[in-house]
Amino acid sequence: MTEATGIVGEFLSLKEETEADLLAMQCGDFYEFFAADAETVADELDLKVSQKSSHGSSYPMAGVPLDDLTPYLKALVERGYRVAVADQYETDSGHAREIVRVVTPGTLLETSDADAQYMVAIVADSSARGDDPAYGLAFADVTTGRFLVAEAEDADEALTELYRFDPVEVLPGPEVRSDDDLLGLVRERLEATLTLHETEAFAPKRASHAVREQFGDGTVDRLGVGESAVAAAGAVLEYVEETGAGVLASMTRIQAHRGDDHVTLDATTQRNLELTETMQGEREGSLFATIDHTATSAGGRLLKEWLQRPRRSLEVLERRQESVGALSTAALARDEIGDVLGEAYDLARLASKASHGSADARDLVAVRETLAALPAVADVVAANPDLADSPLAEILERPDRDAARELRETLEDAIADEPPSTVTQGELFRYGYHEDLDEVIERHEEVREWLEGLADREKRRHGLSHVTVDRNKTDGYYIQVGKSAADGVPDHYEQIKTLKNSKRFTTDELEEKEREMLRLEERRGDLEYELFEELREDVATRAELLQDVGRALATVDALASLATHAAENRWVNPALHEGDRLEIEQGRHPVVEQTTEFVPNDVRLDDDRGFLVVTGPNMSGKSTYMRQVAAIGLLAQIGSFVPAKSAEIGLVDGIFTRVGALDELAQGRSTFMVEMSELSNILHTATEESLVVLDEVGRGTATYDGISIAWAATEYLHNEVRAKTLFATHYHELTGLADRLPRVANVHIAADERDGDVTFLRTVRDGPTDRSYGIHVADLAGVPEPVVDRSRDVLERLREEKAIEAKGGASSEPVQTVFDVSSGQFRGAANTDGGSPKSHAEGDDAGALDAETKQVLEDLESVDVNETSPVELLSKVQEWQRTLEK
Ligand code: ADP
Ligand code: MG
Repeated sequence: MTEATGIVGEFLSLKEETEADLLAMQCGDFYEFFAADAETVADELDLKVSQKSSHGSSYPMAGVPLDDLTPYLKALVERGYRVAVADQYETDSGHAREIVRVVTPGTLLETSDADAQYMVAIVADSSARGDDPAYGLAFADVTTGRFLVAEAEDADEALTELYRFDPVEVLPGPEVRSDDDLLGLVRERLEATLTLHETEAFAPKRASHAVREQFGDGTVDRLGVGESAVAAAGAVLEYVEETGAGVLASMTRIQAHRGDDHVTLDATTQRNLELTETMQGEREGSLFATIDHTATSAGGRLLKEWLQRPRRSLEVLERRQESVGALSTAALARDEIGDVLGEAYDLARLASKASHGSADARDLVAVRETLAALPAVADVVAANPDLADSPLAEILERPDRDAARELRETLEDAIADEPPSTVTQGELFRYGYHEDLDEVIERHEEVREWLEGLADREKRRHGLSHVTVDRNKTDGYYIQVGKSAADGVPDHYEQIKTLKNSKRFTTDELEEKEREMLRLEERRGDLEYELFEELREDVATRAELLQDVGRALATVDALASLATHAAENRWVNPALHEGDRLEIEQGRHPVVEQTTEFVPNDVRLDDDRGFLVVTGPNMSGKSTYMRQVAAIGLLAQIGSFVPAKSAEIGLVDGIFTRVGALDELAQGRSTFMVEMSELSNILHTATEESLVVLDEVGRGTATYDGISIAWAATEYLHNEVRAKTLFATHYHELTGLADRLPRVANVHIAADERDGDVTFLRTVRDGPTDRSYGIHVADLAGVPEPVVDRSRDVLERLREEKAIEAKGGASSEPVQTVFDVSSGQFRGAANTDGGSPKSHAEGDDAGALDAETKQVLEDLESVDVNETSPVELLSKVQEWQRTLEK
């Protein structure tokens, strides 16, 4: 390749300097992308590519106008690209260019998305031994100035934290880069850009220096986190600075996010419970979308944060409940608060913009108006005795109210009612704000008035009709006279242009005024810009105050949102306690109840009854029931009311849910391997204080494997982990566990079968189901009549045999059925021929089945679901049906 010189050469050598994926280089009035970058950008954004010849070679080139860069940048960054921006500046010998900013998903300030925009650095703790390293994480949202550090004991926990914050950009530390497990999960589970920032930034000394510089000397001790978390924090700070986002001033506070304070919700659970998006990846229909009635984007962010990070502190939760309770009965006050907040803007984001220097005068008006919302909301609260007595009053007192008032007054005195969005052309400030400016404004107004009155004066003085005075770029100020009157203009009028119906003139006097006008405009523009920058910097130094006010308003917004939802949907305040009991009377699923005539259900879990085996026919409502219990528990731990008639809820330290691979496969996500590794994670992480929800776990493999795993997992959860557990299963064998294990109880979802028709009652009752209704479902699904009939016969026979056996005593304890790993067979403890259908099929009564049916059953059993494609399966089923029809 020939050495590129000239402009393309400059582009290529700037590109060497940056790790960004793309480079936008200013060339006069355009930002240009060259070479491969031009092709990429053109592809992504539908831009035209032209060819640029440079020293004998030709290069693709794509450009966007200078003022239009932002939307293009946003679009590229949202697609995951990191874009470096090089600006052009004057030098003695012409001009040169320099990279001024690297815009990445995590450092994009021009976001229009209400969601938080976190970037995260992850550092492995080199002092942790064994193959279970600990991790330190630092999360920063440049758009709001939020900065948090967290620690994780292992990769799973790290992933849990990551999933919670849902970062858009991940900076792995040096060791994490070779940690394929964690990186693999990050790639698979998060939609984040991976950025390899220079390794020195992660060095403990350098990083802790950066943290101290930013947040103050005592920070590292105060946080009480390990070296790796500090290293992560330092690396993020350096990265933010290096990319030129220039928002460090708005990062005023660093907080440690402690897992102990929060309910563990691992990544899979967050997805299964459809917290912020449905399994199909849609926002609509998620728990968050359902309960979100916030009026501001900051309120929405906070409510989402609560959902993703439920709390474990009774005190914190009861305070939230108190506010929600007071607000839920104060409909009028809630409306008033909603009206005030409806006018409020995102203060945290505005503080970042001020720090970055991109806030304009309208942004400062937004700051002023939003600061005014604080006393307005406080007035509403004070006027309502219930609210005044609630923690809301204290929440609104948290920000420095005097400082907020002063800043608001400053901005009110300074900025005009409706300033323009450009900050360089004056008219931003009010008269009276600044003495020198006042003089300029006075003079400016005088000249303007003179010019405005000129047309009338000229008409009168010279007896002219059809006179207007105006200005444009080429002619400057001019007097325009209609054609009919143009001949009568006085001699001192100097003609500058002839138009179709009029002529344009100027005079010495007008020219002089024009010069003065231009001088004044320039002076006013410069002076106002100078004053504006001062004011903006002043606002930037109050970033923390703005964040505090923003936080208080967001908190009220989120609480009011919970109150609104509670009031509109007849939710009740759950009684929270630190014991084990979980009792929900007539509970509903918070999302499903919105669209369905929901049949309420009870649940009771306590010391003596900590493990429920949930059975019931397919489609009867098992999954919904269990998710409903988990969702109610979760809502209770954000301080929300819950969909039930009444509820008593013992706080949990974690919620874990797993859905069997087969159900997940339907959504094209999971494999049996994933199901098992997730199960293993629960068995490791859940504690006596956790809530575990297992939905058809073990279903993703051949029957006996599945039963065995489910059986063993149940025993382990019951005996060792002792977590509160709900386990839905279609393995009837598991209902027998209730007799063997003291804390296991059976519940089933009732269905009514009459004349072969099944009605789902959706009501949960104690005890196991006795039927699977599978044949009914097969019938509904259109399986040929003969097969359905034949199945009924077979089932009937099997039932009779079971009844005989039960009388005979051999299987009077079918619960003693155990799975013998060495033989791979089920056997009863008292009788090797236990209660399972298979043993009948193969046992003495095998003759009850004809050879074809037996063959089909054997084939069926040997199918490896995970190794067979749906199409193959279908053709097998067809084959079996044919065999059976014979
Ligand atoms: P299963 O897990 O037993 O196969 P699901 O929980 O998936 O059943 O529920 C099947 C259908 O029944 C879903 O469409 C669900 O919305 C509805 N459903 C479940 N429980 C109830 C209920 N209590 N009231 C009304 N509809 C329900
Ligand atoms: Mg289900």
